[in-house]
Amino acid sequence: HSTRKINFGAGPAQLPVEVLETIQNEFLDFNGSGSNVMELSHRSSAFAKIIQEAERDIREILTIPDSYAVLFLQGGATAQFSAVALNFLNLKPSKTADYLVTGYWSEKAAKEAEKFGKINWVVPKSSKYQGNCIQTKPKYRLINALNEIGVPAEDTWKLSEEPSYFYYCANETIDGVEMENIPTVVPKDVPIVCDMSSNFLTRPFDVTKYAVIFASAQKNFGASGLVLVILRKDLVENNTNKSIPIILDYKVQIANESMYNTPPTFSIYVANKMFAWTKAQGGLKALNQQSASKSSLVYETIDESNGFYVNSVEKNYRSRVNIPLRIVTNGTTNETLEALFLAEVVKSNMFELKGHRAVGGIRISLYNGITVKETEKLVNFMRTFQAKNN
Ligand code: PMP
Repeated sequence: HSTRKINFGAGPAQLPVEVLETIQNEFLDFNGSGSNVMELSHRSSAFAKIIQEAERDIREILTIPDSYAVLFLQGGATAQFSAVALNFLNLKPSKTADYLVTGYWSEKAAKEAEKFGKINWVVPKSSKYQGNCIQTKPKYRLINALNEIGVPAEDTWKLSEEPSYFYYCANETIDGVEMENIPTVVPKDVPIVCDMSSNFLTRPFDVTKYAVIFASAQKNFGASGLVLVILRKDLVENNTNKSIPIILDYKVQIANESMYNTPPTFSIYVANKMFAWTKAQGGLKALNQQSASKSSLVYETIDESNGFYVNSVEKNYRSRVNIPLRIVTNGTTNETLEALFLAEVVKSNMFELKGHRAVGGIRISLYNGITVKETEKLVNFMRTFQAKNN
């Protein structure tokens, strides 16, 4: 569509134009119902079909066993920061949980959980990796772009004796730190909880290695207001906390198939379309390749820029979906050039490239709705911009 710009934002993110067109075609009259989806009762058979199809497709895409529940909930990933702690801190007599804090979002999750129990930060707050915690040390890494960040070696983590669960974030959206693999030092019997909001559906993973996985919709599979939660049903049976706010209570949500109250029907409809699109792309195998191609294009451009573009994440932990970068001249961050970059890129019909307000700089997000061709357009712009302004 000729007036559409390429949106490299961190979320709500760009959706594939063919999905938007399908939604447009069905907008006034969904499937002969005579209504838009958002006008349909969530108890109607037409809506039941949508949510059931969405669940069936995501189960197929990720090979989710029947022993796991799939929930479509509200409150975004942030609500899950509270829900996880409220539902699972009591699983073991220790009433404590281990949190691996690797950046902004896992730090938020840990701080929320601290309201409800004792939380063990497995990487001490005093470690050099505290640099990831932007809230405690604003602009730490970005002012000194040479300070690499990543994830400290697993053998340095301080795990507790018998935690109720272990929590981490697979991709830190602001820091650009991605953990490709599930940690190996966590004992097998400790349930692992993972925030996959930003890299969900960009690579295959084994659901059965996790106790809880959650992901906000507005990055890789749809519209905001919806969070997908995949969780082991047996854990919910062991929950002894009687004072969980009802919409955060997994037991209640499972019993009511995500419909204790009115669910975000339109967002679930969009997610259903996006899961069908994901399958049509060739599933996670194909999307994994696309994610690798797109991010390689950007990282090659950064690495070949002779230090003009700087991304300060250790190579093993470079995110394939969120790439924060700074423009550096004479050894320091050049905010004037960054502002010029952001002003110029819009003239080429690309936008939402400004770094998160907590850190500044530039951030390129490459979710599933961004194509390889669109990424090529951006890296061409980056090379031309450097040639003109270096
Ligand atoms: N976790 C991660 C990794 C995120 O990127 C975000 C949103 N950017 C959140 C949690 C919070 O999600 P929400 O705004 O849906 O609550």
